[in-house]
Amino acid sequence: MTTLFISDLHLDAGLPEISKQLLIFLKDEAASADALYILGDLFESWVGDDDPNPHYATVKNALRKLVGRRVPVYFMHGNRDFAIGEKFAQETGVQILPDPHVVELYGESVLLSHGDRYCTDDVQYQTIRKMTRDPKWLAMMLKKPLRERLAFAAQARAASAAHGGAINQKIANVNQRAIERAMREANVDTMLHGHTHRPGIHRFNLDGEPASRIVLGDWFTQGSVVRWDESGPVLSVLQR
Ligand code: MN
Repeated sequence: MTTLFISDLHLDAGLPEISKQLLIFLKDEAASADALYILGDLFESWVGDDDPNPHYATVKNALRKLVGRRVPVYFMHGNRDFAIGEKFAQETGVQILPDPHVVELYGESVLLSHGDRYCTDDVQYQTIRKMTRDPKWLAMMLKKPLRERLAFAAQARAASAAHGGAINQKIANVNQRAIERAMREANVDTMLHGHTHRPGIHRFNLDGEPASRIVLGDWFTQGSVVRWDESGPVLSVLQR
């Protein structure tokens, strides 16, 4: 049996081929998995669980169905969909995890994160992150009428498109020292994250011991998945 990890799908009604690939993945491969972990940025934007967007409804139904087939599905917030809340969890049966979070995978402790919290070189981003992840700020935003939140999100998307679009958006990489600090604190020698859209496996020494950091890729032109079983993790491309 295998545990699956995905992140950074950036689902958006304007890019239906991504959700099409996800729906096939959920119905086929994920249906026979031990568990599925979604490590953030499942959605390009999320203005609140009360958004009746039919594109989101289709994805929520597919997740519900997978949970109904007794495959546990875990979700960690990304910097795009940090507003996903309790109602989403109830509707889908998906369990929301804190970031970071340690899991035991076939005898190995692994630190999971979306990854943006370790991009500490981007000071401006971390300031925005601190503000938007403050529960008080989020509660204040979610109290605004849906129409207002949607207009705000559309405006943010237009501004992002004007700067080359979400796909070409330059994302800072993680800071190695921040990664090592987090791994030390969590007492692990393996970590797995997304966010940077730089898929790969990085091996290094952590206090004299071999350590590794696995990075999931985004789903803009193809899918990206980590399949983890008794023999360890394998990072693969999912062709469309
Ligand atoms: Mn991200």
